[in-house]
Amino acid sequence: MTPKIIHLAGSGTKAWAYSDVRLPDSLGFMSTCPNCNDARAQQIYGLRILVRSLVDNQPIEAYCAVCKEFWPITANERAELAWLLLTE
Ligand SMILES: [Zn+2]
Repeated sequence: MTPKIIHLAGSGTKAWAYSDVRLPDSLGFMSTCPNCNDARAQQIYGLRILVRSLVDNQPIEAYCAVCKEFWPITANERAELAWLLLTE
């Protein structure tokens, strides 16, 4: 399926979410494990799903390989992630 590029007159950079902007295939960020309190590097795949989760306010899970536990990242971490997406 070819992604549809929507051109909005005068919309400038605000149309990025709706156009076929080339996003990286994966993105790394840090999240602190609530169990061992250590910062864990997270690797996220499927950036469109990630963006959807951010926009729709769905929980985004992080994982600790030591504790083998998942947890939803905090609002601060979500904000950082959103920023990463825009600056990557
Ligand atoms: Zn842990």
